[in-house]
Amino acid sequence: VDTKMERGRGVGETHVLVIPYPVQGHINPMLQFSKRLASKGLKVTLITTTPTNNLDDYLERFKLIVSSSLVELIGRYNGSEYPVRVLVYDSVMSWAQDIVERLSVDGAPFFTQSCAVSTIYYHVNQGAFKIPLEGPTVSIPSMPILGVNDLPSFINDTSSYPTLWSLVKTQFSNFEKVNWVFFNTFCELEDEVVKWLASKRPIKTIGPTIPSMYLDRRIDDDEDYGLSLFKPNADACITWLDTKDTVSVVYVSFGSLASLGEEQMEELAWGLKRSNSQFLWVVRELEKKKLPSNFVEETSEKGLVVSWCPQLEVLAHKAVGCFMTHCGWNSTLEALSLGVPMVAMPQWTDQTTNAKFIEDVWGVGVRVKVGENGIVKREEIKECIREVMEGERGNVMQRNAQRWKELAKEAVNEGGSSDNNIEEFVARLVCRLE
Ligand code: UDP
Repeated sequence: VDTKMERGRGVGETHVLVIPYPVQGHINPMLQFSKRLASKGLKVTLITTTPTNNLDDYLERFKLIVSSSLVELIGRYNGSEYPVRVLVYDSVMSWAQDIVERLSVDGAPFFTQSCAVSTIYYHVNQGAFKIPLEGPTVSIPSMPILGVNDLPSFINDTSSYPTLWSLVKTQFSNFEKVNWVFFNTFCELEDEVVKWLASKRPIKTIGPTIPSMYLDRRIDDDEDYGLSLFKPNADACITWLDTKDTVSVVYVSFGSLASLGEEQMEELAWGLKRSNSQFLWVVRELEKKKLPSNFVEETSEKGLVVSWCPQLEVLAHKAVGCFMTHCGWNSTLEALSLGVPMVAMPQWTDQTTNAKFIEDVWGVGVRVKVGENGIVKREEIKECIREVMEGERGNVMQRNAQRWKELAKEAVNEGGSSDNNIEEFVARLVCRLE
């Protein structure tokens, strides 16, 4: 993606490279951030590649190939009229900092997880508390008391995913060396923890990275907003939603990576049916075989199952009254910013912490209770959906979600906290050039 919008000398000549780790939840926010920078007049180039399923092998090759490609690419640009000033790299690619330093280019990590989650990892890195936890709870400055199940899942289990755990830990290795650290969040949402981390490091909140056409409900079919690794069945979803009443549909999705076990999938399917709500459920192609046989046929009057959907358009649709989510950070931020209350059903990584905040801090959802063998039962799923869709607590969540939606919009609008941070970054770059 190569964008350039000239708005005067200096700005348009300043070139920023952006490189996300190639998974959907990292590409989306970094692409939208690139577009915001471009709209401020910078020349922005986003680099990406296609991912693979075998993570361990892939990460090694990714690092090797991207390292040499970056050197070559930056060299090539430096011989052109658009030398590279800054590389904004995904915080999980901390090795990119060494490369740019050698080339005299500034590096700026971009965090695609919440500031709270990042701060927890930061404390772990600093040895502030022992992991796995010794007690049932932990107290971290500027955060509510967190129970074992509220912490990112890696903290309770560092050995099952050693590669990912090491990626997560090394995110902070460059904190001392960089002038900017970007976070896809907004000050108002994570007020205290943002202030706490900002007192240590030059962090800049720049989110939510949601195209303004969704925040403003000016949805324009022709505007190309994404770079999707999956093919959405956009028309089918929206046409179906258009036939439904306001706030009558539960939207269900577990993002681009989470994979439910067969038993959990079955409980979820029957829980949805029992809730008696209409539902739009994203079941990725590879997951479809886990659906109970006949489920799609049996529920076709109430539900629509698709393999991928245009999530922002769905969440912005007036028919959607509840989002049953795995609490990936993008999904969480998207629901909050579009005013949709949630049923939180976290699976792993940072999702558990996001679920805690959704329920107890932001007041925009209920978190499912996990039963024996780690399974959430159909009755629990039904009850949680009803609570959000029909209960008194649901009304409160609905109102809270509306408030977050307003605040999200204000943050990214001209003069808002995130917009100011982006302006400041652009101004500093341009000053340096002059
Ligand atoms: N998404 C989408 N269509 C879908 C499901 C997800 O466009 O059917 C998008 C969603 O809007 C979000 C991203 O994929 O931006 C998923 O990111 P998230 O952090 O929520 O979860 P992850 O996939 O990283 O677990």
